[in-house]
Amino acid sequence: MGVPAETTAVDRGGIRVALVHLGCARNLIDSENILGRLGSEGFVLTGSVEDADVAVLNTCSFIGPAREESEAAIRDLVSRKKAGDLRGVVVAGCLPEKFRERVEVEFPGVDAFLGLSDYSGIARVVEEVLRGRKVRPGAGGRPPQGRAENLRLLQTPSSYAYLRPSHGCDHKCAFCIIPAIRGRQASKPPGTVVEEARGLVSQGVREVVLVAEDTTGYGTDLGKGGPRLPQLAEGLAEVEGLAWLRIMYAYPNAFPWDLCRVMREQSSVVPYLDIPVQHGSSAVLKRMRRGGTRESVTGIFERLRTEVPGITLRTTILVGHPGEGPAEFEELLSFLEEMRFERLGAFTFSPEAEAPAGSEDDRCSEEEAGERLKAVMELQAGIHHAHQLGRVGEEIEVLVDGRKGAMAETRSWADAPEVDAVVMVDDPEATLATGDLVKVRVTGAEGYDLTAVPAATPVV
Ligand code: SF4
Repeated sequence: MGVPAETTAVDRGGIRVALVHLGCARNLIDSENILGRLGSEGFVLTGSVEDADVAVLNTCSFIGPAREESEAAIRDLVSRKKAGDLRGVVVAGCLPEKFRERVEVEFPGVDAFLGLSDYSGIARVVEEVLRGRKVRPGAGGRPPQGRAENLRLLQTPSSYAYLRPSHGCDHKCAFCIIPAIRGRQASKPPGTVVEEARGLVSQGVREVVLVAEDTTGYGTDLGKGGPRLPQLAEGLAEVEGLAWLRIMYAYPNAFPWDLCRVMREQSSVVPYLDIPVQHGSSAVLKRMRRGGTRESVTGIFERLRTEVPGITLRTTILVGHPGEGPAEFEELLSFLEEMRFERLGAFTFSPEAEAPAGSEDDRCSEEEAGERLKAVMELQAGIHHAHQLGRVGEEIEVLVDGRKGAMAETRSWADAPEVDAVVMVDDPEATLATGDLVKVRVTGAEGYDLTAVPAATPVV
């Protein structure tokens, strides 16, 4: 393990720790937990590995390419330690959670591997590493399920923050190993979630983005008649100072329709929903074990648009799944032309040994999957641009996330952070600040984004 055993106490105030974050918004919350704990328990946090004594890497592992990225980051950190630029390397997150045995053998230069937890023990782990002591697997902390996450050091602009109402997932999609990593659905008590939201708002956050493996499954594990997502959203809408509540990662089937009433009645629950559908061919949806058919998912989206007029629907599509032949792919394209989603993300299938579809080989080549992905994104680019053009001239409310030169970078409620479009507002006097909610007039649609001027600007 390289670091000589030291018995004397570690002067945490003299130790700089850097965190390297990989993965999704849920994993970002874990990274914020790690930073919050390390900072509040005496270590000095640095944003650069070059300046650090110890590096903590929070990994992602849900598909092959994500694992490769995590392993490349491990190699980089271990080589820095070998070169004497680091005194310790801690690897946390989804990779050691799922693939511990393999990575422990493959990367002996790592000082500690930590699976998923609430990371309440991370400071102790860093201290043990500096003392050259062996770190036991569960030392990172307690199982995270159902626990409040109030010690986060937020890594997002102060305008918004992610909030996790639950861990894990009860679905069994044929291509996905996330339940095998994050476990079964485990909801936090609603009071805990509302308390966390209050904590975020007290730090100046204006928009709370609900993220989980399946937000629509919220509460299904809290007993019959227990609170579900609509009740949780209503409780969060009452948090003073919370301007926008956004819901991501909804699951189409067993949809809690009362959510539409909440979206109509509560102005802070923005009429936006991220609801991954993955495909538009009934045959492929069956192979994906997603439940539902083209007709049933079409019905769900049409009902959402009827029950929440003007709603922005974001979805995710997976191409190249086993069972997707040229005919099924054509079906997918016609489904996307019919649905005309306002926002869309797409990925190619990644065969996971641990997932049922991973061993099915009636699928197209990676090249062909890449071509299909390109075709989906080209089709969607046209649909997206048409939606954006339709907003030119409109007066809309936007939330300021930051600046780019003489422009303020903002988003309307139709755009989730990091995955959707932005609204670039002309603001040469830099009058707009992060967290401001302002009215603007849309002046143009450029590529994926909108341009705008403050609403008070006279129309010339
Ligand atoms: S809903 Fe399906 S794709 Fe999403 S995390 Fe659960 S099993 Fe994976």
